[in-house]
Amino acid sequence: MPFSSTYPPLDIPETNILSYLFPYGEEPYEEPIWFDSKDEKVNLSPKTALQWVRRLAFGLKQLGLKNGNVVMIYTPNHIFVPVAYLGIVGAGYIFSGANPTFTIPELVHQITNTMAKVILAHPQHIKVCLTAAAEAGFPRSRIFQFSDVPNPTQNGIDDWRAFIGSESEGEAFRLPDLSPSESKKTIATINYSSGTTGLPKGVCVSHYNLIANVEQVTFMRYAEKPYPFEARPQERWIGFLPLYHAYGQLYTILLAMKLRVPVYIMTEFRFEELLFNIEKYRITSLTVVPPILIMLAKRPEPARYDLSSLRDCICGAAPLSRQLQNEVQKQYNMQINQGWGQTEVTCGAMHVPGGIMNNTSSVGQLDPNCECKLVDDGGKEVPIGQPGEMSQHCMGYWRNEQATRETIDKDGWLKTGDIAINDNGYFWIVDRKKEMIKVNAFQVAPAELEGVLLENKHVADAAVVGISVRGEEFPRAYVVIREASKSKVTPEGIQEWIKPRVAKHKLLTGGVQFVDEVPKLASGKIQRKILREWARKDAAAT
Ligand code: AMP
Repeated sequence: MPFSSTYPPLDIPETNILSYLFPYGEEPYEEPIWFDSKDEKVNLSPKTALQWVRRLAFGLKQLGLKNGNVVMIYTPNHIFVPVAYLGIVGAGYIFSGANPTFTIPELVHQITNTMAKVILAHPQHIKVCLTAAAEAGFPRSRIFQFSDVPNPTQNGIDDWRAFIGSESEGEAFRLPDLSPSESKKTIATINYSSGTTGLPKGVCVSHYNLIANVEQVTFMRYAEKPYPFEARPQERWIGFLPLYHAYGQLYTILLAMKLRVPVYIMTEFRFEELLFNIEKYRITSLTVVPPILIMLAKRPEPARYDLSSLRDCICGAAPLSRQLQNEVQKQYNMQINQGWGQTEVTCGAMHVPGGIMNNTSSVGQLDPNCECKLVDDGGKEVPIGQPGEMSQHCMGYWRNEQATRETIDKDGWLKTGDIAINDNGYFWIVDRKKEMIKVNAFQVAPAELEGVLLENKHVADAAVVGISVRGEEFPRAYVVIREASKSKVTPEGIQEWIKPRVAKHKLLTGGVQFVDEVPKLASGKIQRKILREWARKDAAAT
């Protein structure tokens, strides 16, 4: 029997995410909630954001976009990213965010794979965007500069404010409603994930999925701490999680908006800037990934700041040890509750309920309306208390039926690739079965790095696996060098060669080792179990 949430099911509104956040007939909230952390006078309230959202929606329609077309953003965080997200999705288009550290080939892949119709690119990144667009055959006329200030035209590329509607056009624009069945079928976002195997794929998330996750995560956040709605603005959040990722989108855009919590948006993560902002804005709650807790525990800088405003913290996206959880809790007098989720399940599906002190590194209980199975290699449910692969639910991958079929079975169960155990309703992640490596909680797909390595003329074959050193994971490559190249290339040379070709978190920081052969099955499939064993031995030897 699958496990079900122990909480009663929630009634999930079946509508457009925008109508859900801005209910018809209700005056939008006028206090600012999205602040620029560098200058809090630069901010947006839901009311002002909605005006921009309407103007953007009008402009996209004028450009000839049809329902279901994709609009990509390629930018670091800023206060107008929530506007772009809500405007694109609310108008019936699909939002897809690209990592602003992507290199040209990585961006080409996302442009081509999404079949985007418009790209909003930050002026700092416009050159990379133009080169990638040219390679992808994407028209320059559909690229616009996108930041929090108006930008003069550069390289013939206008600012996004040039194509959006005027205030009165925005005001008069009718945003589309969605019927209950459309709410479940209409794709709102496509974020990228490598899933259990292979290259990064676009994950389809519907309006209903987003609304459900906002309701579920809100419920779990306050489940065991009765908390009047009016008190929520007394929370203050900090938004450094990247807004091209589901985790950042859920908290900084959707939950901040729904709960009316002020969030101070940082362009990107810088540790000392984070500490400075916590002190300056008296931040109450953090939403983090484990490497940030390692910094809080181990680095000297926190001692120079007053961090006493911190009360609670959600941690997810990668494994957190019990020791680290307890160390940081004690040091900062801040309750740390974990959550588990993945891009495929919209964002979060398990949380330690707010108000519960669970210091066992459990990832929590199933959110309301969620169920899951723990299964063995043959897909059979394991007995209670035994580890098994978690299965959940998901809409599927964007334009990739094969990956969807391989990951979701005929009964709709999604293979998560995470091995968990359940004890009395609480879950612990004990292992990862899938290929994916997590570097600073960012996904790295071995298949992608293997593809890049094979482009090197000295490389005959290559396999990549994560190596764990002191609780952190790094990508490590086992490479077969062509006979004629053996005297011409070194492992360090390969590490250098890959640097300009991939985003920083994908670098081969776990090392490169030359081998005679990559272990493969007769079918040509890499035997990843053997690679993991090699990496384990190599880690022990360092
Ligand atoms: P992403 O789709 O980038 O959010 O990555 C999802 C993956 O991150 C999951 O399938 C897990 O492997 C891992 N993950 C997420 N949350 C946790 C957690 N609390 N503990 C361990 N691993 C996690």
